[in-house]
Order: sequence, then C-alpha cells, then structure tokens
Amino acid sequence: MELKRILIANRGEIALRALRTIQEMGKEAIVVHSTADKDALYVKYADASICIGPPRSSDSYLNIPAIMSAAQISGADAVFPGYGFLSENQNFAEICEKEGLKFIGPSTSAMALMSDKSKAKAFMKRAGVPVVPGSDGALKDVNEAKKLAEEIGYPVILKAAAGGGGRGMRVVNKPEDLEKNFWSAESEALAAFGDGTMYIEKYFTSPRHIEVQILGDEHGNVVHIGERDCSLQRRHQKLIEESPAVILDEKTREELHEVAVKATKAIGYSSAGTFEFLYDRKDKKFYFIEMNTRLQVEHCVSEMVSGLDLIEWMIKIAEGKELLPQNKIKISGHAIECRITAEDPKSFVPSPGKITKYVAPAGRNVRMESHIYQGYNVPPFYDSMIGKLVVYDNNRDRAISKMKVALDELIVGGIKTTRDFHLQMMNNVDFLNNNYDTNYLAKH
Ligand code: ADP
Repeated sequence: MELKRILIANRGEIALRALRTIQEMGKEAIVVHSTADKDALYVKYADASICIGPPRSSDSYLNIPAIMSAAQISGADAVFPGYGFLSENQNFAEICEKEGLKFIGPSTSAMALMSDKSKAKAFMKRAGVPVVPGSDGALKDVNEAKKLAEEIGYPVILKAAAGGGGRGMRVVNKPEDLEKNFWSAESEALAAFGDGTMYIEKYFTSPRHIEVQILGDEHGNVVHIGERDCSLQRRHQKLIEESPAVILDEKTREELHEVAVKATKAIGYSSAGTFEFLYDRKDKKFYFIEMNTRLQVEHCVSEMVSGLDLIEWMIKIAEGKELLPQNKIKISGHAIECRITAEDPKSFVPSPGKITKYVAPAGRNVRMESHIYQGYNVPPFYDSMIGKLVVYDNNRDRAISKMKVALDELIVGGIKTTRDFHLQMMNNVDFLNNNYDTNYLAKH
C-alpha cells in the first residue's frame, strides 16, 4: 500500500531529516509541533503543520490524543516516530494501527519483545547471541542482586529494564555500595520510566560500544548495513560515532553481522533496528546489551558508507515492499559523526538561546544535519542537540581530516556549543590512534 501523507511525530533535526526524504519520495510531510517550536524550519517546509500543545513534552510530543487528532485532521495515512519521544512506545504504535495509521517502525510484538532490556537479553541468549554475563531477566529484589554480584564478580552494573538515555544505571565497585545503588537506581527508573524493574550485569571497565544496523521487511528478508563504533561517550551517552568500526578484524566483523541478522530473524523483525554490543578488545569478543527498535541518531554514518537512505527504506518497508538483497549492499569508505549540542564545551551545561550567527560547513561529502538557522531560538525544553556534523571519506584518517576542516568552518554565534570539544577530539592522539574506550572521557 502506497503511503501518501506521513505525519512526523517528532521535532528538531530528525523532523527536518525525515521531512526531506518524505518530500523527495513525492509524498506529503505533515509536522506537529509545540508552541515552543512554532518557528522551526520543518514547520515552514511542511505540507501541513499542526500545533499540538505547550512546550512541555508531556503536553505535546508525548501527548498521544493530540497527535492522533492531528493525524485525523490532516488526513495522514502513516506516522514516522523518529527517535526518543514515542518511537519505542508500544501503546502509541497500537493506537496508530487501530486508527488505521501505519506506524513506520516494527510490529508491536517485536517492540514488546525488546522493550524490557532484561527480557530482551534473555531472549537473545536463547537465540544463541552472546550476551553480557548477568541476571537471566529481572531481579526479584536487592538480595538476589547481592548474590548474583558475588557470582559475577565486582564491578557490576545495575540497570533499569525499561532504561534508556543512560538513566537508571549504576556501576557498583564493591559489595558495601550495592544496596544504596540499587535503591537509587530503582527510584530513578521508577520516576523516569514508571517502572523500577532492575537487572544486573558484569561491568566491563574498558569496552568499545559497537552496534549493527539492520533492516528487515515484512516478507522475512533481513539485511545488515554494517556496524558503527560509538565508543566515544560521556556518562554513557554517545558523542562521536563512526562506520565502519575499524577496530574489528574481518572475521569478527562478519561474525557480528551474522549474529545480528540471525537475531533479527529470530524476532521476526521488520523496519530499521540496531543491535548494541560491548566489545572486549583483549579477547576480541562481543556481548549483546540491547536492541533499539527504531532509527538511531547516528544512522547517518551508515547511510554515508552504504549510500542508502534509511528513512526511505523504513517507508518502503512500511509500504510492504521487499528489501534489496545483502549482496547489493556495498559498504565502503569511512564516515564520522559529531553530535553538536547547545552546551558548554567543557562543562556540558546546556546553553539554550537565540542563535545570532550561523555558518554551516559544506563541501564534498560534508553533511550538516541540523534544523537551526540564524535568528533561531534554541528552546530550553528539549534535548540540547542542535545538529549532527557527518563527513565521509576514503578512510578513517581522511575522514578525521575532513571533520577538522568542517568543524573549523562551523560557526554558531549567540549560544555555546560543543564544537570546540569535537575539534579537540579530532586532534587527540588517542582518538587518532583509535586507542580509547567508552570510559575515556571519565578517565581523562
Ligand atoms: P541506555 O539504553 O540507557 O543507553 P545501554 O544499555 O545502551 O543503556 O548502555 C549505554 C552505555 O552504557 C553503553 O554504551 C556503555 O558505554 C555503558 N554500559 C552499559 N552496560 C555496560 C556494561 N555491562 N559494562 C560496561 N559499560 C556498560
């Protein structure tokens, strides 16, 4: 079934990113926005736009009745959820389907299987995927956590089953710290996700974060679009992503892809998804941590190395079309993404406000995915990411050189941004030598 009018249930750079693909495909893009986003570029460019409420996300971008009314009024036939907000909300996906709106994402049963991270791990283990050692499913109570921590060996990490964005997670280094961390993680999870279910796993002190991009269609076909290395993180949140992960040898890379494809088939998954793994450089082993049943922020690096438009494929899959075969997907070159946020480059304290000057970098294979413009007001209510600078070149060294030039060109006046942090990283010897792990920034 051809989709003609797609409602984008999101904001910021991803709303603009999705709008472009929808319009390029000859379809109409409908956007919803809060009062704080009324002057956003995607509102100006949209085929129709509808205000769905006041600034607070719970009143607007998470307000399901308001979004459903907007879909009805505008005559939308599908919803693209993006990332964050309602993208992994099973209830929302169910309501969409009930109202005859195609949810551009996986089936609700696949979402349900992967949404509880402790259950997802147990499922993957049964499917033969190597997982991080830890509890098989949820913890009954703090005593079980204590017992398992002794078995696994410290350090351990307590995680919220419903977790995301690094919340509800606590690293515990010694037995006497377990109990208080359990209670604080549990209450944080309860407040953030309305679910305090916890699980525990071994804490790797020096891992790389490597993930596989997959696509599945409604006919049972599954392909991978290579892997990404997202190891440069701050407080377990990604800052820089690359594809491919050059730290992997060819054999390990192939194994990783195979495992991800096998797991996707085991779930019966359609649409775009990501399998996240921790990779231990010493023993060259990878361990599943979670699956994200949506498009990720960093999908652009996979697009650059494959030449595919992942949103276009998500839409085609939602229309019931068949995927192209794996041997038609060619990965080449190297892509890097820097997440540019409206934050102080040293303290990472948010810096919303009016952008007085904006010069976007450009040039061959330089891609600035951003919704900002001169005169735009970065609202204080949402995630502080104002864009993603993505570059592509023949190899990692050339991509880093290109990123330096692009970052030099980038000017954002009036607010603080993390541009200088990224420039520093592009000159950092450990980053250049690819010699770092997910805890690099905490250690340095
Ligand atoms: P979230 O869903 O909140 O983003 P994830 O489970 O995806 O949480 O983990 C986010 C990051 O936290 C990982 O990329 C990694 O840096 C760190 N992390 C998670 N689990 C472990 C672990 N068992 N050992 C070491 N680091 C971990």
